[in-house]
Amino acid sequence: MLKKFILGLMMFSVIFLTACSKKQEKSDLLTSIKKRGELVVGVKYDSKPFGYVENGKLQGYDIDIAHLLAKRILGNEKLVRFVEVNASNRISKLYAGDVDMLVATMTVTPQRQEVVDFSVPYFYAGQAIMIRKGTSIKTVGDLNGRRVIIILGTTGEKNLRYFAPEAILQGYKNYQEGFNGMLNRKAEALTTDDSIIAGFIMDHPEFTMLPQRYSQDGYAVAFRKEPESQSLKYEVNAAIGELRRKGYLNYLKGQWLPAASNNFKKSK
Ligand code: GLU
Repeated sequence: MLKKFILGLMMFSVIFLTACSKKQEKSDLLTSIKKRGELVVGVKYDSKPFGYVENGKLQGYDIDIAHLLAKRILGNEKLVRFVEVNASNRISKLYAGDVDMLVATMTVTPQRQEVVDFSVPYFYAGQAIMIRKGTSIKTVGDLNGRRVIIILGTTGEKNLRYFAPEAILQGYKNYQEGFNGMLNRKAEALTTDDSIIAGFIMDHPEFTMLPQRYSQDGYAVAFRKEPESQSLKYEVNAAIGELRRKGYLNYLKGQWLPAASNNFKKSK
C-alpha cells in the first residue's frame, strides 16, 4: 500500500514537473512581449518627478525609462502600455499578471528580494524628512513624539519605525493623500525618498527638506520571481548598463531633478 502511494507520488511529481518545464519553455515572458508587440509596465501616477500626470500627460523619470526599455525590447519606444500602481499594491498587481514589470520608484531591500526579482539599480535615493519651513525639527530623532506622515508600504514607513520609534505615524495609501495631509497641517513632517520630496517642493516652496539622509538605496525594475521572467530581466539589465555607460541615466536625472531642488543636490 505504502509502496503504491510512494510510486503514485513520484509519478505525480514527474508529470507535474514536466508540465511546469513545458510551460516555462512555452511562456517565456520576453518572447510573449515580442509576439504581443507591447510592453506592459506598472508605474506611479502620483510620484513627481518619476511618474505623475500634469496637463493630462503621464510623464517622469520612470516613464522615460519604460519608453527606453520598450525601444530596446521592441524597437519602438511607443510600444509601451502603462498601468497605475502605488507603493501598497505594486507587488500584488505584478503577481496578478496586470503588468510585465514595475518601474515604480521601487527601492531594493532584502525583504522585497525574497518576493520579487530586481534589475540592477538605475537611480539612488536617500530617506529624508520634509517639514514646513520654520518648524523646529532638525533631525530624524526630533520626530519622536510628533505626528509624521508616511506612505504605507514604503521603505520610509519601515525606516521611520526604526529611527524614530516614538513618532506618531499617520499612514496614507498614496503620495497625493500624504502630501495633502502636510498641506492641511495634519502632521509636522513627512518622510520618504529625497527624490520624491524634491518633486513636491518644486511646486510648494513653503516646505523644505532637512539635509540629513538616514538611508541611501537604489531604485530598480521589479519582476515576478519566476523562470519565465529571467530573459526579460537580463535584457533590462543590459539596457540599464548601456544607459549608464552612455551617461543617459545622469542626463535623465538632470532633466527631472533640476537645480530647482537645492536640497536634493546636497544629498548627492
Ligand atoms: N522608494 C521607496 C520604496 O520603494 C519609497 C517610494 C515609493 O513609494 O515607491 O518604498
